[in-house]
Amino acid sequence: MIIVARKNITVDQLDYIRERIESLGLRTHISKGVSRTIIGCIGDEARLAGVSLLSIPGVRSVHPVMRPYKLAARDFSADRTSRVQVGNRTFGGPACLVAAGPCSVEGAEMMAETGRAVAGEGASLLRGGAFKPRTSPYSFDGLKEEGLRILERVREETGLPVVTEVLDPRHAELVAGYADMLQIGARNMQNFALLREVGRLRRPVLLKRGMSATLKDLLLAAEYVMSGGNMDVVLCERGIRTFGGEMRNTFDLAAIPWLKLETHLPVIADPSHAGGRRDLVAPLAFAALAAGADGLIVEVHPDPETAASDGDQSLSFAEFADMMRGLQVFAEAAGRSL
Ligand code: PEP
Ligand code: MN
Repeated sequence: MIIVARKNITVDQLDYIRERIESLGLRTHISKGVSRTIIGCIGDEARLAGVSLLSIPGVRSVHPVMRPYKLAARDFSADRTSRVQVGNRTFGGPACLVAAGPCSVEGAEMMAETGRAVAGEGASLLRGGAFKPRTSPYSFDGLKEEGLRILERVREETGLPVVTEVLDPRHAELVAGYADMLQIGARNMQNFALLREVGRLRRPVLLKRGMSATLKDLLLAAEYVMSGGNMDVVLCERGIRTFGGEMRNTFDLAAIPWLKLETHLPVIADPSHAGGRRDLVAPLAFAALAAGADGLIVEVHPDPETAASDGDQSLSFAEFADMMRGLQVFAEAAGRSL
């Protein structure tokens, strides 16, 4: 349930409403926007049945939220849009942010080279997996803490905040000690123990859509993180499994505007995993920005042919530069900058 406050509500009146709701066993979330303040109530709404909320001073109106997700629902944000700060960059602001880097951190040299190249072309964040989820247990699964140390050094050199994946709740604190943003990968979107753990930490989360997850599943996964107190969630459409066999995944373009209508959280796209082929990355990236995405996460490698993972879909530096140039016009058409 959402309580919309009167414009001139006082601090004491707001406190009173919050305490009254919490005394009945519900949780509250206050969102102050430019033109309105709302008090979101989460819990057993039947307990509010005997309370005449509209007669409490400061209350303007009361609205039920029919969605199963609450904190992630668009109406739970006073401005119906939220911004997520990662280092010195902001998702959901006027600029579309591009996170770029290799699928896996393979070594210090390739990572530094990639960091410099993508920073030079206007990337906003550096990506790279130190803990890698691999379909086969025999594949390279990352440099682990050594990979995190490498990412930290490249951040120092380039100034780019780092986004990297956390696979296991037992590693969450370790990864959060190095990373500016924690990626929850598609395979872990419904790892509820992991979602709870990153909800407890104070690090922004990049939540990728599971390959067979509905958008409702995705928003409920975000709700897990947010219900732990961590409101800094960015959603990512990265393609889903369908009957088509030609592409690695099927890029669900409509998910982007749908999510933007349904949630206040920033939404980005991953054209690399969606198409699985380097020559599909730029067109899918253009489509994503045209559809209203707040940014992209893209795989870039100094020598894609020798990449330890996802070489087929990784852009060379020159291809990344071309994509960034091409993106300008799509960002502008969507009323954004790059
Ligand atoms: C990745 O970003 O390299 C990755 C493993 O992505 P996803 O979880 O979307 O497959
Ligand atoms: Mn990858």
